[in-house]
Amino acid sequence: MATKKSDSRDWLPATQLIRGGLERSQFDETSEALYMTSGYVYSSPEEAQLAFEGGKERFLYSRYANPTVAMLEERLRLLEGARHCKTTASGMAAVFAALACQLKTGDRIVASRALFSSCHYIITELLPTYGINAILVDGTDLDQWAKALSQPTNAVFLETPSNPTLEIIDIRAVSELAHNSGASVIVDNVFATPMLQNPLNLGADIVIYSSTKHIDGQGRSMGGVILTNDDDFIEDKLKPFMRHTGPTNSPFNAWLQLKGLETLAVRVEKMSANALEVAHFLSQQNNIESILYPGLESHPQFRLAKQQMKSGSTIISFHVQGGREGAFKLLNGVRLIDISNNLGDTKSLITHPATTTHQSLSESERAQMGIGDGLIRLSVGLEDPEDLKDDLKFALGEI
Ligand SMILES: *Cc1c(COP(=O)(O)O)cnc(C)c1O
Repeated sequence: MATKKSDSRDWLPATQLIRGGLERSQFDETSEALYMTSGYVYSSPEEAQLAFEGGKERFLYSRYANPTVAMLEERLRLLEGARHCKTTASGMAAVFAALACQLKTGDRIVASRALFSSCHYIITELLPTYGINAILVDGTDLDQWAKALSQPTNAVFLETPSNPTLEIIDIRAVSELAHNSGASVIVDNVFATPMLQNPLNLGADIVIYSSTKHIDGQGRSMGGVILTNDDDFIEDKLKPFMRHTGPTNSPFNAWLQLKGLETLAVRVEKMSANALEVAHFLSQQNNIESILYPGLESHPQFRLAKQQMKSGSTIISFHVQGGREGAFKLLNGVRLIDISNNLGDTKSLITHPATTTHQSLSESERAQMGIGDGLIRLSVGLEDPEDLKDDLKFALGEI
């Protein structure tokens, strides 16, 4: 006989996305309320004092916490199956907060080389100015991880699939090596989304999202997410860091992201199916040198992708003939797909990483990451895949 699941922790992900964390006000609204308030009022100075002493759980100031932001954090926490969640003003604020709360002068971080360029900046340029030693490895090569982690290390940072080369890193194997060296593992899970990969179950300690991407997914807001099971990290490090440095998520953006979560499962499922169809199509076209999509058997880590991800996700990268000139002809040829460096959107977006998202890297750094002049990144949206294929077919003819 079916039992009534009144405890929201028992709900399955599709249900969590719609109802997880919902706290209705005295007005019994259907949709989540948007609490646009910076502060909160107290009935007496005694109450204010008690609240600031920590003697009463309540909202004090929206830099620390806000009811709409709290609903988003609870929904994300239940979805990921994590003990804690904090959201931030952008994905990069989440990345920086997670790193700044782990590392101090004299510490050591090992990271995969294929990184989003702002993550690359923080790890290879900003952290070293604080006296933190940063080592980059080829994320797909477990021997390089083992060698780098053969000495005591404090943090490991990796992105899988990576942006934009879609490398797949073995989260379970790297987490084991990291833990043996004393490091905690931070996974940037933006490309996989919470729907397709669960790094905490594979051994990671902290998961990061840019909710700007699939979680909002409709191009409206910036946001970041930090999830973990580590009580000490949250209470002793992240909460004071966020409270005093202020990379806080805004209630309005949190509300957009809450509404985005309600359709996340269906969007990611359909966008991934569209991406697979477009990837198959691209692999049959002339003018394309190679295609990288974790859901295609031709991907160098197809088997690993299949093990740790539920599908190939929504992003395809491919090398066109003719280098930069060929790539620009393709981008100038598309009529439906938009040229944009964003991703994870319902609208299909195409970009040339070497001259945009990864422009700030040196040519040799780009070469080491596999970002050639002919590389294109395509974020596949919710349009009819027939129209997307038509658009690409026409544009490829321009090369
Ligand atoms: C976009 C992105 C980020 C940064 O997120 P923002 O919301 O733009 O600050 C970090 N990592 C990856 C993999 C991204 O794609």
